Amino acid sequence: MKNRERKNREQSDAVLVVGAGIGGMGAALLLAEAGFQVHLLDRAPSIGGSQPLLDRTFPTNSCGLCFMSPLPPAYCPFIECDRHPNIHLLPYAEVEGLEGEPGRFQVTIRQKARYVDPARCDGCGACAAVCPVEVPRELGEGLETRKAIYRPYPQAVPNAFLIDMAACTRCGECLEVCQPGAIDFEQEDELRQLEVGAVLLSPGFAPFDARAKGEFGYGLYPNVLTSFQFERMLSLTSPSGGLPQRPSDGKTPRRIAFIQCVGSRDPAHGRGYCSSVCCMYATKQAMLARERAPESRVTVFYMDMRTFGKGFDRYLERAEGEYGIEYRRSMVSAVKQVPDSQNLRLSYVAEDGRPREEEFDLVVLSLGFVPPAGTDALARLGFDLNEHGFCHTDEFSPVETTRPGVFVAGAFREPKDIPDTVAEAAGAAAQVAAFLQAAVR
Ligand SMILES: Cc1cc2nc3c(=O)[nH]c(=O)nc-3n(C[C@H](O)[C@H](O)[C@H](O)COP(=O)(O)OP(=O)(O)OC[C@H]3O[C@@H](n4cnc5c(N)ncnc54)[C@H](O)[C@@H]3O)c2cc1C
Ligand code: SF4
Ligand code: SF4
Repeated sequence: MKNRERKNREQSDAVLVVGAGIGGMGAALLLAEAGFQVHLLDRAPSIGGSQPLLDRTFPTNSCGLCFMSPLPPAYCPFIECDRHPNIHLLPYAEVEGLEGEPGRFQVTIRQKARYVDPARCDGCGACAAVCPVEVPRELGEGLETRKAIYRPYPQAVPNAFLIDMAACTRCGECLEVCQPGAIDFEQEDELRQLEVGAVLLSPGFAPFDARAKGEFGYGLYPNVLTSFQFERMLSLTSPSGGLPQRPSDGKTPRRIAFIQCVGSRDPAHGRGYCSSVCCMYATKQAMLARERAPESRVTVFYMDMRTFGKGFDRYLERAEGEYGIEYRRSMVSAVKQVPDSQNLRLSYVAEDGRPREEEFDLVVLSLGFVPPAGTDALARLGFDLNEHGFCHTDEFSPVETTRPGVFVAGAFREPKDIPDTVAEAAGAAAQVAAFLQAAVR
């Protein structure tokens, strides 16, 4: 925890971590504990990446609710990053430029205007209660709404509100009720300069755009959901309280179908790779759906079940044996809505090679991982991307980018789950530390 002494005044022993998901938070904590000064930047208004979406995680189905509950336990990485004296949080910020050389980079940061001063906002929520504007909420891809003045979720770090100026009508209602006077419509983006010795990229991933697979009816049929939406629905903090529900009528679905590899292993859509996580998260969601709605029948349509991690095969066996989930090796070619019931009819080729049709109440598309939005702009900092747009690294130096002094970890290098992200982040943190120690010698 003690700050490192700089051995060479020319070099900086500070690190910029870009992306504060589980990978970025993990690396930041390790580097901070080793005594480095860490700037932990995220373009989102709060840190955490995909973690707040996940209520349970495979292969233990243990609870990740500490990220959402009013009383998070100690050692929650969100809280630790917030309180660590060597970590400087930069939420709602983006990197605009990276000049200089390894060991002595000058970084230009754009701090986006929140229009709410985090130092004054006490998180009371009075503003959101009176705000008349409702827009789709990002968490869960629009299954719920939020106000134009909002906090991403109740335990967000930082816990301050912000205004979505694209939605705000400037009616002024929020100004009237904000007792601490935290709201400031005149705020503007600010450019800042940082000096750091190394940069660690951990900007994660984005979901494949389900609308690109028009044959599955996402966006047309209300009872076709993405796996991101279903993950949110199964969270105990969702509006349904964790129960599977049909968006069309709020009823509990009796027959749920998962379609695997939507936007993965699909060269026709430029996504020839396996996203490596979807088989497991679909199995988790299928188990949770059966627990919460025991009368439901769950069928998973797949090409191959890729259960390669520790304990994953056993997990799949439990899903089939204990939970009665049916895995069917069949490619679904189309989903059509049945007009009156808004049920969904799936067309597929069965294992015997014959075409079949079957009706379901709810369909979940297991979306693959693609590079996060804005990756091309980020790559202008001077590192190469691979053929799929993820960060390029050499086989034998997996956490080094092509720009010396710039490292990478997590799903931005290639799709991966939380344990692999955390392990890679630890490796990247060790390599950053070794690099800076060599640089200051
Ligand atoms: C539906 C679903 C369920 C899942 N369930 C599980 C599970 O049960 N168990 C499991 O092990 N894994 C699960 N995963 C996988 C898990 O979410 C990932 O392994 C993990 O989130 C990867 O962490 P990360 O830090 O690399 O990326 P992310 O969590 O994506 O974090 C990246 C962060 O970088 C920020 N960022 C992006 N671009 C920029 C930029 N240009 N500048 C600044 N910041 C940027 C983002 O705002 C974000 O905060 C699931 C994934 C999905 C989609
Ligand atoms: S000024 Fe904007 S944020 Fe404030 S209440 Fe009106 S619409 Fe909502
Ligand atoms: S902006 Fe003002 S009214 Fe809104 S939560 Fe913060 S302190 Fe409360």
